[in-house]
Amino acid sequence: MKVAVLALQGAFIEHEQMLKRLGVESFEVRKLSDWQKPKDGLILPGGESTVQMRLMASLQLFDPIRQAINEGLPVFGTCAGMILLSEGRLGTMDVRVRRNAYGRQLGSFHAYGQVEGIGDDVPMTFIRAPYIDEVLSPRCRPLAVLDHHIVAAQQGRQLATSFHPELDCDLRLHQYFVQMLAS
Ligand code: GLN
Repeated sequence: MKVAVLALQGAFIEHEQMLKRLGVESFEVRKLSDWQKPKDGLILPGGESTVQMRLMASLQLFDPIRQAINEGLPVFGTCAGMILLSEGRLGTMDVRVRRNAYGRQLGSFHAYGQVEGIGDDVPMTFIRAPYIDEVLSPRCRPLAVLDHHIVAAQQGRQLATSFHPELDCDLRLHQYFVQMLAS
């Protein structure tokens, strides 16, 4: 099993380390030839979604990534990665997100919450995070709600979180994603 990690910008190394701890191999995608390697899933990390969008487009990665997700490649997007999956960007997930939803400067905080299918007390690190404003189709299922806002969701084999599980020590969300790859 091998997971591609989009490594154009942002917190991708932390995802690779989480996968390693789960015994799952990964490789970095920096250009089209990386992307063309065989893979069982994709991680879109946190960072700056506008920069990631621009780089994906200029490196000709945008269309192939969108196509692969639409054809069923499992994907896990965290924070900026969730924004990339949303309406108006890759648009593979039927969600509308609000960027920097908690404010730009003071919008970083830590919480614990329940995530459906995963359990209680999941650590949630938010860094200038988005949240899901609106779920646009019944195909998309909210998995976690914090202070009345949706902060995690799943649509088929697409998983997205507003927060950064790769920055905490809890492996459960990555494990959940790895199980999606195997199914
Ligand atoms: N604020 C960033 C954006 O809009 C996301 C922040 C993050 O990924 N930690 O892209």
